[in-house]
Amino acid sequence: MSSSSTAGQVIRCKAAVAWEAGKPLVMEEVEVAPPQALEVRLKILFTSLCHTDVYFWEAKGQTPLFPRIFGHEAGGIVESVGEGVTDLKPGDHVLPVFTGECKECRHCKSEESNMCDLLRINTDRGVMLNDGKSRFSINGQPIYHFVGTSTFSEYTVVHVGCVAKINPAAPLDKVCVLSCGISTGLGATLNVAKPKKGSTVAVFGLGAVGLAAAEGARISGASRIIGIDLNAKRFDEAKKFGVTEFVNPKDHDKPVQEVLAEMTNGGVDRSIECTGSINAMISAFECVHDGWGVAVLVGVPNKDDAFKTHPMNILNERTIKGTFFGNYKPRSDLPSVVEKYMNKELELEKFITHEVSFSEINKAFEYMLRGDGLRCIIRMDA
Ligand code: NAD
Ligand code: ZN
Repeated sequence: MSSSSTAGQVIRCKAAVAWEAGKPLVMEEVEVAPPQALEVRLKILFTSLCHTDVYFWEAKGQTPLFPRIFGHEAGGIVESVGEGVTDLKPGDHVLPVFTGECKECRHCKSEESNMCDLLRINTDRGVMLNDGKSRFSINGQPIYHFVGTSTFSEYTVVHVGCVAKINPAAPLDKVCVLSCGISTGLGATLNVAKPKKGSTVAVFGLGAVGLAAAEGARISGASRIIGIDLNAKRFDEAKKFGVTEFVNPKDHDKPVQEVLAEMTNGGVDRSIECTGSINAMISAFECVHDGWGVAVLVGVPNKDDAFKTHPMNILNERTIKGTFFGNYKPRSDLPSVVEKYMNKELELEKFITHEVSFSEINKAFEYMLRGDGLRCIIRMDA
């Protein structure tokens, strides 16, 4: 594909616009401005829906910012690049990511962090960093961006630091799910919880993120993987992901952390919370074994949530950690996660339970709201 015909020009294309919180997205013709310095314009081919989109679309406990174009799990092709972009060119296959990597700040230079100073996730910002403005408009009215990606549009503009260049042989309709949820869960286990072989791992929330965390536990050689979810429909699906036991907190009168302590002779070795529920976060921490247990929080809480536990739980040598994007650095690490799929170490097909055309995007929201399936792929060309 050639970029010469559209580079430097405004592109008119279809986008699914959220005009108001909680109201169905509306297919609109939007104008997408050319990329400015250190930005790239992408043609999105596939996108999928993650719970974080739904939270900010509902805006119940979040700062509302509308009209907005949501979407942050996607795969696409570079259409054109702005000034100063040297490591991407038109035609490159890429995954946009909601958190970036400038490669120059203290975080990017640290081996331990992926919380880039310049490009770390900012859910309240609806504009591009370069000029504080949006690249999307409808008849001159600006439409806000979401987490710097806004992939529910045929074309979008993204900071170069939020774009991972991947193997062009990788099928974008599969690896697009690695641009957020699956990498997040997988990395939460492999990079942060780091369970030892033979250990017991609890996973709270058996959505795509939690099942990716379970996949990480299986790859790490965990002997017991205990899945906890309020939705019993999730248990069947979870068996395909190596989850060996299930607990539904609704089936018990006592707190689920007590149920888990009884099942495991005092607590699990590692727990990974992938729900966004503050109660599950507290349970996930309190269910780890004293002396060595590590809990990793992944879910995005509501705005006014507060984490409350007795400090004794921490003094007794339990560790609580959190992670964004599974501690992967988007540009440096994501290409190798794509290679794990290409080498068949990692299976992605089992995460993809639905597929819809772009015009049916609201169906993807319905599936997620009723807890049906894991990931719904939205095909932009259909
Ligand atoms: P999902 O809705 O598909 O799955 C969440 C599951 O949690 C559901 O099955 C639900 O029934 C279950 N659940 C809710 N409350 C529970 C509770 N109290 N106890 C047990 N189970 C409970 O969502 P997902 O796409 O898998 O995302 C999971 C979470 O991860 C979300 O909060 C999302 O915003 C967050 N997330 C975080 C990052 C990050 O970098 N930290 C990245 C992506 C997604
Ligand atoms: Zn940085």
